[in-house]
Amino acid sequence: MSEIRLQVNDICKYFGITKALEHVSFNIAKGEVHALIGENGSGKSTLTNSLAGIYQKDSGTFTLDGKEVNPANQVEANNEGISIIVQELGTLDGLTVAENIFLGHEDKFVKCGIKNTNAMNRKATELLKQYGFDRIKAADMIENYNFEDRKLVEIVKATYFKPKILVIDETTTALSGEGREELYKHMNRIREEGDTVIFISHDLPEILRLSDTITVLRDGIYIDTVKSSDIDEEGLKKLMVGREVSGKYYRADYGEEISDEVVMKVENVTVPGLISDISFDLHKGEILGFGGLSESGMHEVGKACFGASFDREGKVTLADGTEINDIPSAISHSIAYTSKDRDNESLVMNQSIRDNICLPSLDELSNKAGLLSDKKLYEFAGIHAKTMSTKMQSVDQFVSNLSGGNKQKVVLARWIGKDSDILVLDSPTRGIDVKVKQDIYQLMDKMRKEGKSIIMISEELMELIGMCDRIIIMKDGRINGELMRDENMDENVLISKMV
Ligand code: ADP
Ligand code: MG
Repeated sequence: MSEIRLQVNDICKYFGITKALEHVSFNIAKGEVHALIGENGSGKSTLTNSLAGIYQKDSGTFTLDGKEVNPANQVEANNEGISIIVQELGTLDGLTVAENIFLGHEDKFVKCGIKNTNAMNRKATELLKQYGFDRIKAADMIENYNFEDRKLVEIVKATYFKPKILVIDETTTALSGEGREELYKHMNRIREEGDTVIFISHDLPEILRLSDTITVLRDGIYIDTVKSSDIDEEGLKKLMVGREVSGKYYRADYGEEISDEVVMKVENVTVPGLISDISFDLHKGEILGFGGLSESGMHEVGKACFGASFDREGKVTLADGTEINDIPSAISHSIAYTSKDRDNESLVMNQSIRDNICLPSLDELSNKAGLLSDKKLYEFAGIHAKTMSTKMQSVDQFVSNLSGGNKQKVVLARWIGKDSDILVLDSPTRGIDVKVKQDIYQLMDKMRKEGKSIIMISEELMELIGMCDRIIIMKDGRINGELMRDENMDENVLISKMV
């Protein structure tokens, strides 16, 4: 029996009427990667946020190496040897990379009341180099970096002081292959040094590969703890949803003809430094996939189609000849867009579900005098939040408090409400559990059958293969191949064109 590192003892946490955690108890050992899984909203983040001082639990205790810990904030948690890489963006704008790494621990660099910025930058540079992230510069402002690089900075921030417990909350979905490998390396190192990783991810193969032990939560209740070597994906899914995941996961049809009708024509689109000379047609009722490495330019293709690129050259034209050059014209011509960076680019976090869903439909919802009625907004938001079976208390709830899968449902509800004809979905299932993923795939299939056209951009090859009529592979900002829907397609064909 390995030694116990953390005892989770009868933890309860409520948010209003939502029971996020109900009497949760289990043990986590030293020297293990302990995975925490469960559907969206099952309480994983609430548990780890409570441990890491971000939330205050209502009752119960955490015992770390035999001693009760009850951190009031993240800095206190760090000092107890607990650190966390959160699901959302965990770095702060307005600070440098070095200031973010040492946030809350600046006193290390203060002498006689004066902050020694040079010493801090030197130390951060040394760490970044040690981690192999040399391209990130300590003195740069953090907002000069993209989401992925900011996550890499968070890895440094959370691990440089060798915590006893590192929590990684759904970080891997934000990382491309290289970033993931980097994170896995640090997870292994921590485990080999006898410390503990609590690992939250929706990627079940990844969980099975990396973890020693898996604990399952469902609706805030502890279900079971199993050894990773004793269970497989199907078994985990069953524990998560409490029944067998029934029906087809992806769409089931093959060999359907794509309509000749072109709804969007993209011609010679270039965004300097990101994509060059991209041309393709999107057909009515088609799901057109874009795959590639995260820096291949595929995410920019989505932005370009929505009129959201800076300095775009080339043309994006709709069937009626309308040219799409900016976001307002995209929205008024029934184009929807979900960003890979959901929290920063798709949702207004400090607004309600209602406002987020109604946002692009305000013109339709206002009366002749241009006025909006509260009642109408409530009704509209309620209907579409319900269609997506969003788990919420009411449409007044702020989106910042929703779990990842429910945030994505709000984003989709918004565009279903708008009744968009063309949907550009960038990473629509990023960080979402199996059950909600299945819902989203079914929704896409339904929309396709209704004659709507979808551009699906994804780093998950299996979902592209499972859902798309055609897949365009991007490499180094250019189109590097196109594949038609085929029952026998496997990931290797795509990978060979990606790298
Ligand atoms: P998971 O991480 O497993 O997806 P969470 O722990 O984020 O789930 O959420 C558990 C439940 O608690 C959900 O119903 C969620 O809406 C709710 N919840 C989480 N954080 C807050 C908050 N700050 N305010 C209100 N409700 C919250
Ligand atoms: Mg979570």
